[in-house]
Amino acid sequence: MDSFAFQAPTSLDAAVALLAEQRQASVRTQILAGGTDMIVQMRSVDRAPRMIVDIKRIPETRSIQLGEDGLILGSAVAGAELSARDDVAAIYPGLVEAADLIGSTQIQGRASVGGNLCNASPAGDTIPALIANSAICQIAGPGGWRELAVEDFVVGVGRNALEPGEFLVALRLPAAQPRSADAYLRFIPRTEMDIAVASAGVRVALDENGVCTAARVAIGAVAVTALLVPEAAEALIGTRLDDAACAAAAAASSAAARPISDKRGTETYRRQVVGVLTRRAAVIARDRALGGQA
Ligand SMILES: Cc1cc2nc3c(=O)[nH]c(=O)nc-3n(C[C@H](O)[C@H](O)[C@H](O)COP(=O)(O)OP(=O)(O)OC[C@H]3O[C@@H](n4cnc5c(N)ncnc54)[C@H](O)[C@@H]3O)c2cc1C
Repeated sequence: MDSFAFQAPTSLDAAVALLAEQRQASVRTQILAGGTDMIVQMRSVDRAPRMIVDIKRIPETRSIQLGEDGLILGSAVAGAELSARDDVAAIYPGLVEAADLIGSTQIQGRASVGGNLCNASPAGDTIPALIANSAICQIAGPGGWRELAVEDFVVGVGRNALEPGEFLVALRLPAAQPRSADAYLRFIPRTEMDIAVASAGVRVALDENGVCTAARVAIGAVAVTALLVPEAAEALIGTRLDDAACAAAAAASSAAARPISDKRGTETYRRQVVGVLTRRAAVIARDRALGGQA
């Protein structure tokens, strides 16, 4: 193939068949969601011809289903569409916050959570928020349908666990427990339009006495991939998320981080900041859970 081609299948089966057919013919394919990463990359680092497969006409990639079993978020739903759903924001405010931080208003009109995840940047904002919410990837491909936890999906810088011919259809978030909430924070050197130097997503559930019964803590931009930090969660569980518990969770996140030093922050600085963000996100999640946001 020496030129670009474009297809926009309208069903999952058609997309899987198209990808399989192109693979058989040794044609390189690439999935297009919002294009806010892909177009930038096509202009700079990767100009090679390929077939672009737009998944936005497939209904399953475009729907937001919130029910008793949780949330099914289509992989190509734009951040702006997600932010407009108050019912989703009431239950998963941290995830919506993370999507809201991506780029500008214009970028958010296209940029999807699925694209953010598949692009697999260590600083991708929605990834720690998805991990904190125990999100599961729903993947379609030639072998059928499979599910994979988000923390196992990103396998390196710009690399994900999709096999040839597979694509991400949706993200499944379990139903929120009573008195639970999440929060996501990142630090950037500018006020907006920058990528995270460090980030943290936290989800906590409390019992009727305000004691933490479950927690998930994930950190971003401080390792090759976003990291789930069970030690930070353990520091929170069984406590009332008081200062000591939140400080212990912060120390666990700092210890788990494996950051690099670059012009945007030294290793030491990033370790420190990711601890502070963990502590603050835990406090926000706690206050939301106490405030009745399920
Ligand atoms: C000005 C600007 C500001 C930005 N700011 C931020 C920011 O603050 N935080 C941040 O995290 N990111 C930021 N980004 C990056 C980008 O906007 C996000 O990563 C966005 O969420 C990508 O989603 P998309 O739908 O545009 O993905 P696309 O560009 O369509 O796809 C991204 C990659 O994932 C693949 N892909 C997409 N969907 C699927 C799928 N369903 N199955 C398999 N593969 C798939 C594509 O082939 C491509 O390789 C910014 C980008 C720009 C241009």
